[in-house]
Amino acid sequence: MKKTKIIATIGPKTCDKQKLKELIQNGMDIARINMTHASSSFLKQIVDTINELNQELHTFVATMLDTEGPSVKIGHLDGGKATLTKGDKIRIYEQDVLGNSTKFTIGYTKLLETVKVNTTLKMSEGLVELLVVDKGHDCLLCEVVEGGTIFENHKVNIIGVHLALPFLSEKDKEDILYASKLHVDFVALSFVGTHEDVLEVNDLLINSNDAHMTILSKIENAYALEDLDEIIKVSDGIIVARGDLGVELPLERIPGIQKQIINKCHYLSKVSIVATEMMSSMEENIRPTRAEVSDVATAVLEGVDCMLLAGETTIGEYPIEAVSMMGKIIESAEEDSNYHEFLDKSMRTEKQDTTGSLAYSVVDCASRLKASVIVTPTMSGYTAKKISRFRPTCPILAMAPDMDTVKSLNVYYGVYPVFIENTKSFDKMMELARQKSIEKFTLEQGNRIIITGGYPFREVKHTNFMKIEDL
Ligand code: PGA
Ligand code: MN
Repeated sequence: MKKTKIIATIGPKTCDKQKLKELIQNGMDIARINMTHASSSFLKQIVDTINELNQELHTFVATMLDTEGPSVKIGHLDGGKATLTKGDKIRIYEQDVLGNSTKFTIGYTKLLETVKVNTTLKMSEGLVELLVVDKGHDCLLCEVVEGGTIFENHKVNIIGVHLALPFLSEKDKEDILYASKLHVDFVALSFVGTHEDVLEVNDLLINSNDAHMTILSKIENAYALEDLDEIIKVSDGIIVARGDLGVELPLERIPGIQKQIINKCHYLSKVSIVATEMMSSMEENIRPTRAEVSDVATAVLEGVDCMLLAGETTIGEYPIEAVSMMGKIIESAEEDSNYHEFLDKSMRTEKQDTTGSLAYSVVDCASRLKASVIVTPTMSGYTAKKISRFRPTCPILAMAPDMDTVKSLNVYYGVYPVFIENTKSFDKMMELARQKSIEKFTLEQGNRIIITGGYPFREVKHTNFMKIEDL
């Protein structure tokens, strides 16, 4: 069974119930809804359908909201699009004009104030590039450095400029609060600039009296990299958003940044997720390229918790195959992972508390004693997260009596969360541990399981026992 998790973005090719069911059956752990493209009614429809499927399939698949984030966009274009030719001079206005291949609007009131001569603007995922060569009294004069087609209402990346926009727009706030009400489990924050941005979302959720959502910060520009350590500390996890990162920074820097972020997340005990173009050739082909297979496997070997599919599962022709293929690559790469190195690295940076120390011993024991599963009853999910941090060779079965906790654990490496009824009895909990692990992992007689937790249940705040059982 794979231990690295899969997030699949839901779009036109995957939004009906049958396709969502197939995504789940092929290994999707979390369904992501990207509010740059989706409406709030689409969000509700997907969340409702996933809830229904969880009931029918006895699964605990989680949902993720991805915010639009602070961004600037191309204004009206005659016919909705325009083709820009390399070498041409074009004008960009703050005020509304009907755009074409010689002029268009960027709806950003501080455009002329904040964008200087020699700034690069990129559009269409970085394929179209403009250089600001002069400034008029009401427009920027630009030269087309790389030509191509641009589209109305599409994002513009203004390279190296921190936009003078509030981090959360009114729409973002509404989306986050609505998602929280729908019991969406994760919020992925687009274009986080500083740790203050993350704290703002934290405050928003706390003030709404429901802070169950896990906060993941997307790192997608140079500005965020300057405050990376602090952003990681105040977030539950980080998404390496290679799409925009590859527009805002030279493409060749992505692998190094990815590795750096994953390492920092390991040290700071946070979740790391790699996103975008992991298998984008599968939007058209039934097989990924060798390079894509290698990209997915590399992320596993680097020790990510999760991988995120976008175009492959929103508009691609083979969304189910993409998830299934990703699962196969993950399982194979996990056979080759260096678990000793993960365990060593995590131990060196673990603070010396009871739960952390016991989690280390449990993981070490599980590998020495060739355990099939580590089972942990958990209230808040803390014990399961700690065990996941040490990257055991076997899966972790986390049993929690709270549905929000259960689903939030989906993003953690190796954790298979299940819902259980509350119990105070130790014997009953041990029986549940045996029964649920047999159910989930088709174990046989003689297989070994390790059970760990804090007893008396609900009363102690830390882990204090480890029990080894042969079935
Ligand atoms: P997006 O974020 O899909 O919302 O743009 C991911 C990325 O930029 O890689
Ligand atoms: Mn992005």
